[in-house]
Amino acid sequence: MSPLAPERIAELKGLLSGNLIPFREEADLSVHCSFKIGGVCPILVEPESSEQILEALDFFSKLEIPWKILGGGTNLLISDHPDDLVVLRLGGIFKEYRDLGGGRFRIGAATNTTPVFRQISQKGYTGAEFLSTIPGWTGGAVIQNAGCYGGEFFDLIEEVEFLRDGKILKRKPEEISHGYRTTEFLQRKDSIILTTEIRLKPGDLNEIENSLKEKRDKRNSSQPQNKKSAGSMFKNPKIYENGAEIKAWQLIDRAGLRGKTVGGAQISPEHCNFIVNTGNAKASEVDSLVRIVREKVDKECRVRLDREVEYFGTVP
Ligand SMILES: Cc1cc2nc3c(=O)[nH]c(=O)nc-3n(C[C@H](O)[C@H](O)[C@H](O)COP(=O)(O)OP(=O)(O)OC[C@H]3O[C@@H](n4cnc5c(N)ncnc54)[C@H](O)[C@@H]3O)c2cc1C
Repeated sequence: MSPLAPERIAELKGLLSGNLIPFREEADLSVHCSFKIGGVCPILVEPESSEQILEALDFFSKLEIPWKILGGGTNLLISDHPDDLVVLRLGGIFKEYRDLGGGRFRIGAATNTTPVFRQISQKGYTGAEFLSTIPGWTGGAVIQNAGCYGGEFFDLIEEVEFLRDGKILKRKPEEISHGYRTTEFLQRKDSIILTTEIRLKPGDLNEIENSLKEKRDKRNSSQPQNKKSAGSMFKNPKIYENGAEIKAWQLIDRAGLRGKTVGGAQISPEHCNFIVNTGNAKASEVDSLVRIVREKVDKECRVRLDREVEYFGTVP
């Protein structure tokens, strides 16, 4: 029997319904990602508590069903045919955050980073303003150690609560291996982030408002606005010319690819490291552009670019 044979899906549906775990059938994943690309997956499971996650994982394991976790979908290219896996997306209590007092906050993994970190900053705490400009969910920001404008998430974290090997664990940041845009969670792919505790310093409200506005303006002026994308497609290769860092977008520009299109996918004319969906792009079209960029940059600039955006399911 194939992993997602109808009998197996039917059995999973019965178990989820019987245990009151919310799920949707034939879920269109394109609505759950910033690229607005992706096909239909057979079942999208939306557990609302740690107990429900554990139960769902137990069912997947017993039925040998392959699964993947989706957050805000802002760092992903989702397959045009994600019919070979079941998708997990946290809901319920993971959509909340709590003010613990004294600048400490416990934030659920399914909270939207932009409004949450803006609200927390506007309570008069400083240090998290940069996170209010990064799209996605807090769990995804932990996994990637998301950052910008000189700040990264792990600078603020006091504790991460996560699920690994069927156990709920809590770790301090110094006990979690992490670096620039990476963590052991991203490398190992065996953990589900549940909540994150951060600590911030009190600050002056006017200065905080200015900092929020300055960062928002900076982003608006440097990145394509209201476009369907997953942000920077490639990692900066950390190479230098006359002492100055050469960024991925500069190499793509030098390779003459600004504005290049494949079907509905385009190298953004405004920011060469963004691939944008100009209409109804397919994941396969974005992937073709990715291949063209890698080949041409390698040929013209002798640099191999690595992807920043992760593929979710089989692409193309
Ligand atoms: C316009 C734009 C600008 C961006 N700018 C920045 C920037 O300045 N800095 C930056 O760092 N990033 C940036 N990004 C990328 C992205 O916003 C971040 O990486 C974000 O933190 C990803 O979170 P997410 O919830 O969308 O994760 P997703 O894209 O949903 O998932 C990313 C990975 O995390 C895993 N995952 C998600 N949630 C969990 C969980 N709870 N437990 C375990 N695994 C999980 C997924 O399986 C996947 O492997 C940008 C993206 C866009 C579209």
